[in-house]
Amino acid sequence: MTLDGKVALVTGGSRGIGAATAIRLAEDGADVALTYQNNAELAAGVVDRIKALGRRALAIQADSADAAAVVSAVDTAVAEFGRLDVLVNNGGVGFVGPLDQTSLEDIDRVLAVNVRGVYVATQAAARHLGDGGRVITIGSCVSDRVPGPGMSLYAVSKTALLGLTKGLARELGPRGITVNIVHPGPTDTDMNPADGPYAADQRSLTVFDRYGSPSEVAATVSFLARPESKYVTAATVSVDGGHAA
Ligand code: NDP
Repeated sequence: MTLDGKVALVTGGSRGIGAATAIRLAEDGADVALTYQNNAELAAGVVDRIKALGRRALAIQADSADAAAVVSAVDTAVAEFGRLDVLVNNGGVGFVGPLDQTSLEDIDRVLAVNVRGVYVATQAAARHLGDGGRVITIGSCVSDRVPGPGMSLYAVSKTALLGLTKGLARELGPRGITVNIVHPGPTDTDMNPADGPYAADQRSLTVFDRYGSPSEVAATVSFLARPESKYVTAATVSVDGGHAA
């Protein structure tokens, strides 16, 4: 097992890409804590699946917009499992809306979850990460190509994470910690179902004319988490089916 003895925290691990990632990291040998916002039952189901793999698991309710809750989630994971090696900043909200119908509340909410929450989680995790530590953030293919109108706020939030990734790769690198960002393309989840109203256009922009699956994104997160990926940092890794081509 490549992640034997490691402890990971995945934000937004109750569904979609986060759930697939939490399970994949456990399959690779890690103990996994995950956060969720509302879906306690789904989070408990992911915990059960991880425990069935023989790994330790813990679900923690923490709204990424609530900085105190985010810090507490990190500290709880460390208290429970004794260490932290991998932070996966996955939890996020989608947003589609035209410029003139986007409110200040919309802006604040999207940035609070998708940007500030990631910053605070990384700040808290960095206090515990040691040599070999990993910060892996789930950005989006919209940082490479915005597929249609109404996506500027979401694109702002995801593209901010590129700056965070590069800046923190410089800052945390001397401690042996890598910081990378994964850009999923259209991925079949509740946020962006493959049979949803925007699906046909997104699918047609991929090379393969299909959506990706959460497990395909999780496989790349797993690769970045491994010890042998220690020279990969400040990288953007697209798992987007060629969406940006
Ligand atoms: P889903 O909507 O399927 O799942 C979202 C997950 O994040 C859930 O576990 C949810 O918890 C959690 N979450 C949502 N809001 C918060 C919050 N405020 N605080 C804590 N947890 C929260 O999304 P995806 O799996 O599709 O997306 C995961 C990440 O991937 C996001 O960052 C998204 O932007 C990104 N992404 C997705 C793409 C796609 O096509 N699906 C493409 C590119 C990027 P709960 O179950 O409790 O609500």
